[in-house]
Parts: sequence; C-alpha cells; structure tokens
Amino acid sequence: MKNEPARVRTGLPENLTQRFAHRAAHMKPSEIRSLFAVASRPEIVSLAGGMPNLSALPMEMMASVVQKLILDNGAEALQYGSGQGHPRLREQICEMMALEGIRAHPDDVIVTTGSQQALDLISRIFIDPDDVVLVEAPSYVGALGTFRQYEAKVVHVAMDDHGLIPDALREAIAATRAAGRKIKFLYLIPNYQNPAGVLLPAERRTEILDICREEKIFVVEDNPYGLLGFDKPSPNAMRAEDSENVIYLGSFSKTIAPGFRVGWALVPQSLKEKLVIASESSILCPSNFTQLAISSYLADQPWRDQIASFAKLYKVRRDVALESLDKYFPKNATWTKPAGGFYIWVTLPPEIDTNALVPKAIVAKVAYVPGTAFYADGFGSWSLRLSYCHPTPERIKEGIKALSGVIKDEMEQRSIN
Ligand code: PMP
Repeated sequence: MKNEPARVRTGLPENLTQRFAHRAAHMKPSEIRSLFAVASRPEIVSLAGGMPNLSALPMEMMASVVQKLILDNGAEALQYGSGQGHPRLREQICEMMALEGIRAHPDDVIVTTGSQQALDLISRIFIDPDDVVLVEAPSYVGALGTFRQYEAKVVHVAMDDHGLIPDALREAIAATRAAGRKIKFLYLIPNYQNPAGVLLPAERRTEILDICREEKIFVVEDNPYGLLGFDKPSPNAMRAEDSENVIYLGSFSKTIAPGFRVGWALVPQSLKEKLVIASESSILCPSNFTQLAISSYLADQPWRDQIASFAKLYKVRRDVALESLDKYFPKNATWTKPAGGFYIWVTLPPEIDTNALVPKAIVAKVAYVPGTAFYADGFGSWSLRLSYCHPTPERIKEGIKALSGVIKDEMEQRSIN
C-alpha cells in the first residue's frame, strides 16, 4: 500500500531463533517464491511459475454457480463441515478418479486444502527426522520443501524420458537399506511430471508397484495433471492397480481452478483415521464453501468439456514452446517433449550454471526456474524448468528466443560449442 512505512528486513535476531522449535530451522523460503515476485512483472515473460491458465474458464458460469450455491444452500456452504470432507463431493471425486481406472469408496477419500496439504499430512504421519523419502530426480519443489520441514533425508532416483527407472529404484532401496536407513515412502508424479514433463508408461508403473510392495514401501502417487493429456488419455493410475500400498493425491487446481484450494487423498483404509485426525488438527475441516462450489459445478456443468478445452489451450502452448526451442536453442541443449501438463525440462552443457543466469535472463525479460530448485541436494545446476502454461503463444516464443540469446552469450563467453 502506498502510505505504508517501508519495512527493512534484517533477518531473525539470534535470541528469537533460539526460542524456535528445532524444526523451524528447516523452514526456508522457496527459491521459486522469490523468483515469482520478479517474474510477475508485466514486462517479463514468465516461463517460471506453474500457474494454471484460467482464460479458458467461463467466469460468468462460475459466478452463477457460486451465487446459486449461496442463495440456495448458504447455511450449509458457510458453516463448518466434516473433517474428512463433504460426502457428496467425495462421491463425485470417486467418479472423477474412475476416468483413470480407479475404483474407490468415498469413505477412503479425505478432502484437503489443495493436494499440498495432503503432502503435509502424509509427511507429518510418516516422517521422523532422518527417515528417507525416495523421489524422482528431479522432483516437485513444493513436496521437497515439505519433506525438508519434517527433516526427511530425500534420496533422488534417476529418471529418463519415460519417468522413474525401476532398476535405479531397486539400487536406491538397496543402497539406502545397506546404509542402515529407514525408507518411509516413494513419492512420484507419474503423469506429465513436475518439473520434467515426462509420462511413466504402464509397464513401469506395474514394475514400480511390484518393487514397492515387495519392499514394503508405500507409494505416494501425486496426480494433479493426469487428465491433461494432449493426444490420448494417460495410462491408468497406479492406485487402480494397488489399493493397499498406494496413497493417491488428487487436485482440482489444474482441472478447475487453484483458487478453490480443493484437493484430496485416497488412502488405504488403515490410514484414513490418522489422516483425518491430522487434518482436523491443522484446519478443523476443509472449506464447505469451496467444496460445495466444486460439487455444484461438477453436478451441473460440462466439466469434461472444460478439461478438454484446458488441454487444448496447453497443447497449443506446448507446440509453440517446442517449436521455439527447436528454432532458437543451441544444438547442444536437450529437452523433454511433454505429452500433457505444463512443463519442459531443459538440460544444458554442464559448464552452464542456470542459477547464475537468472539475473541476465531477467534483464532479457524472461524468467524460468533453475534446475537446482528441484533437487534436495544442490544437483541440477545445468538444467532448468520452462512452464508454458500461462503466457500467450506469442509471448512464449518471445521468451524462449530471449532466453536462448542469454544462453548462447554465456556459451560464447565460456567457449562452449
Ligand atoms: N503436486 C504437484 C506435482 C504440483 O505441481 C502441485 C502444484 N503446482 C501440487 C502438488 C499442489 O497443488 P494444489 O495444492 O494446488 O492442489
């Protein structure tokens, strides 16, 4: 605000940090969050944030859904609700998950405040300090931040263009156990992965499920992008094959809108009670208002068509991004070719430090996220994530062209060719 006095950030005084709980030391600002402040300036083409593109969402229709909800059912919508989530929405969530082959009972669904909250709850229930969580290399920055706050030791497992490599998983499990460490779960994003954009094929899903079942390791399947395939549906969810050993996370953030903050966890029966208790302790109950808004929308609106129009919009942007990379990027760079979702992962020659290039990219009016954000251990300095979901196709082209100029200059200076 204009008249607010300037506040000088001086960091935390030492006597204050001494009063914090031990775990507060692991609460660090996300690299991405600070980048977003710059990236959101209008002159910058942001290929940084994974913000859903709401331009395809008819706002008048949304307004009428919300208005009708309040007028017809305001007393319920604006009241506290069930800690586990609204029963009607939980039924509808099961119908939605059926699109990915999942047969689930609404009793096993827990509605959360975005799937991010589900990640927090699962971490709270499973992770003691120094426990190991296995994740893809690279993995979702928001999950890594949560695991760090619960003091997990994150072990990255290699991926290729087809997602997590089962043999690498076997090796990681053996090495971790040989070092005497406890593995709590494998966290993975099988569909149009964040940040790599890759898709895990059906055979690998089965193989990974078999390994984890045998080794008694839970699989946390995070699936916010699964319905955003461009040309064909994604393979069945891993949870469709294994209801005992998979904790499935879903979200309406990318298929409807993130502002509702509604996601869910579908858990093995044995875990449900713990999750509900943990959730009640942090939020009492998820918002009845946003749950019922989503529920009315799903009941009365053509939501499948809406998802299809989102996918179409993202496909156009993916095409422009890939064409621009082909046209402008140096020949010694490589990148993934997503079949859905929001992200492309670019790998440059190892001498290039994508963290150091951020300020130069900002001067060239383009923003991206450096690869190190997606590793718990500082790896990834010569890679970066590009999100093509939000800018217009023209701006995507402009941004990728500008970024290629920055990278080519750097390569020239370092005599890389
Ligand atoms: N998981 C993944 C892989 C994500 O990309 C995101 C959001 N970018 C989330 C979870 C959290 O989503 P939400 O809390 O909005 O459901």
